[in-house]
Parts: sequence; structure tokens; C-alpha cells
Amino acid sequence: MSELVRVERLKKSFGEHTVLQDVSFAVPEGSVTVILGPSGSGKTTLLRSLNGLELPDAGTVRVSDATVDFADVHPGRRGRLPRPQRQTVDRLTAQSGMVFQAHNLFPHRTAIENVIEGPVVVQRIPREEARSQGVELLAKVGLAEHADKFPYQLSGGQQQRVGIARALALKPKLVLFDEPTSALDPELVGEVLRVIRDLATEGWTMVIVTHEVKFAAQVADQVLFIDGGVVVEHGTPGEVISHPQNARTQDFLRRIL
Ligand code: ADP
Repeated sequence: MSELVRVERLKKSFGEHTVLQDVSFAVPEGSVTVILGPSGSGKTTLLRSLNGLELPDAGTVRVSDATVDFADVHPGRRGRLPRPQRQTVDRLTAQSGMVFQAHNLFPHRTAIENVIEGPVVVQRIPREEARSQGVELLAKVGLAEHADKFPYQLSGGQQQRVGIARALALKPKLVLFDEPTSALDPELVGEVLRVIRDLATEGWTMVIVTHEVKFAAQVADQVLFIDGGVVVEHGTPGEVISHPQNARTQDFLRRIL
């Protein structure tokens, strides 16, 4: 498998607080990477660094043919990036689709309108063409009959599945999931995990932050356990989840399982 993502020596601090220290890893194309770790360990910051939503202080991220060396990215006053730097980061952002903890759907737009927003506005695909692709995506997440419903007419799990369809709509090379089930009632978690599992089978390259350790054990090709902004353990689910070597990993898994 060729390598789709390479992260090298990523560092990030918020003021005095170091959140990522020297994080490096690679993601083969078509594989699933799960990031585990206690709350506040830097998982979300790392995930958001992969698409430039967060700007690390140093280190590089490459996704496909877009590379950002964050040592060269310096927000100016009011957090704005100079135009050439913005363009470099935007190229990185364009490689990924992101599924957030809460779905962030537009409340006054139907499921299908939410899904086709990106293709129509960003990629300028004609609305009718975008719509037929969007209906296919909604079918993929099991929501073909719900295309014209508004978010409030859908359950939390259905809304999150619309969020997944929306993340796929721009045909990203990489799909990032930030705790996609943690805001859901327990009975709705399974339907969302099932969709993610199907995407893994289809060969989507995904990086997933989750506390669902059993799901991680089933779906992940590699697991990173992060604590205090450091990759403490990194390997297959069999290595990291079933036979953790590090005391911090062992302690975390004991508490969560
Ligand atoms: P996790 O996803 O593992 O819970 P996060 O990456 O969200 O961890 O956060 C790691 C640490 O960074 C936490 O202590 C959090 O409070 C801090 N943090 C995250 N974002 C910001 C921010 N924008 N400003 C200041 N501190 C932040």
C-alpha cells in the first residue's frame, strides 16, 4: 500500500501548555488509523492539524501531494495567514473531509441540501448532478428515503450519518472523524459505527478519534495511543489494545473497558 499521509515531528502549544510534542506517524492509503487517549491528551488537536484547521508550531503534514511545513506558517495579526501560506494550508484542507462530534448540519436545509452544499459551492458542480451524487451518498449511509427531511426530523444517529455523507461529498482522499459517536445516545452509536465500518471495507482512508475501543479493535489497521501530547504506543490493535506494553496504555484501557 502506498503512503497517503505522513506526519513528522508535529509540535503545538497553547501558551505555556504543550499539547503536541514531536508526533510522527504515517497512514497507508486505504487503511484505518484510530487515535485513542485520555481526555485532553491532544487527540483533537492532532486530528485538526491533519487538515490545517489547527496550525501546529512546527513539523510537517503531507496528505497525498499537499505538504505543509508548519514552521513556515505564521499567522499574522488577528490570526490571518499571508496569502501564499493560506493557499498552501488550503491545499492541505482540500484533501480531507471531516466528521465532527456534533454533526454541524445547516438546520434550515434538508439532508440532501446539506450534502450537496460543498460540491455546488466549492466545486461548482451543477445542482442536478450534485443532487444525483448526493442521493447515492445518502443511500450509502442508509438514508435514501430521508433525503428531503430537515435535520430536526431525523434522529441523532441519522443526522450524524448525513454528516458522514456530507464529508464524503467532495470525494476527499482522507476522511477524519472526531469522536463521531460521543454525542449520541447509546442506542444510536451502532448505526454510525456500522457506516464507518462499511467505508473501511470500501477502502476509504480514515483517521478516527474515538473512545469506542471495541470498534477500534475491529476496524483499525493501526492504533495510536496518545497521552500528554506524546504517542505513547503505536501498533496494530492486537499490539496496542490486546497487549499494551506501556503502563499508561494499560491503565487507560482498564478504565475504559
Ligand atoms: P483531546 O481531544 O485529547 O481531548 P484536545 O486536543 O482537544 O484533547 O486538547 C488538548 C489540550 O489542549 C487540552 O488541555 C485543551 O484544553 C487544550 N486546548 C485545545 N484547544 C485549545 C485552544 N484553542 N486554546 C487553548 N487550549 C486549547
